[in-house]
Amino acid sequence: MTTTNAEIGVIGGSGFYSFLDDVEEVRIDTPYGPPSDPVAIGELAGRRVAFLPRHGRDHRFPPHKIPYRANLWALRSLGVRTVLAPSAVGSLTPGLGPGALAVPDQLIDRTSGRAQTYYDEGAAVHVSFADPYCPAGRRTAVAAARTAGWEPVDGGTLVVIEGPRFSTRAESRWFAAQGWTLVGMTGHPEAVLARELALCYTPLCLVTDLDAGIEEGEGVTHQEVLRVFGANMTRLRDLVADVIKALPADRACPCPHALDDLELPLELP
Ligand SMILES: [Zn+2]
Repeated sequence: MTTTNAEIGVIGGSGFYSFLDDVEEVRIDTPYGPPSDPVAIGELAGRRVAFLPRHGRDHRFPPHKIPYRANLWALRSLGVRTVLAPSAVGSLTPGLGPGALAVPDQLIDRTSGRAQTYYDEGAAVHVSFADPYCPAGRRTAVAAARTAGWEPVDGGTLVVIEGPRFSTRAESRWFAAQGWTLVGMTGHPEAVLARELALCYTPLCLVTDLDAGIEEGEGVTHQEVLRVFGANMTRLRDLVADVIKALPADRACPCPHALDDLELPLELP
């Protein structure tokens, strides 16, 4: 048990390996094993913030091997109730090119075989997931991006694929034909695990490439993703800081009530 605590958690995606200066690193173990990395805890504008690089700081966890359950559990055990989740995504929309920012409001799960619940045994716990993201967090993120002059796409659907490979052209065209906006590899089960712990969860999606079915060239490469992410890193980090400053102190959204009236087979940290 640590006396160090935090209120807001940031789970950094590819290229987003550090966030705050002057942090205390905390090693945590959970019933699901250790999280991707030690959690770095610091302060920003009077708010206590915990940072966790989703893939580990050396990017050792590919999307399908990320210890999602341990990550969210670790954050909650530190006191975190609000999670901001920046990530690199591909675009399924021709008008939405590299460097664009989106705050989706829907998610499609195309992953397979990932542990996606805390409630494996003892009792069936069915959380509502109709609106997978925190409405207050989304509003705050969109407003903060606008104020920063980075006009975001407000809404849209993120389809999460299993990876680690990128989509084929046919898959990508199919996703686009469904009207889906973005494609990523880590948004699920992260968002649902946050909901299962009654956390607020807000995605901040940085478009790094046009997905295979949309662009004309050779398809997505990992180098290109990292290049665009690197070029927009400072901007994204600043935006996450702006969102933290603007987040309401009290959670007036439905997220804290996600588990009301449900009988849980385990005690939450
Ligand atoms: Zn919320």
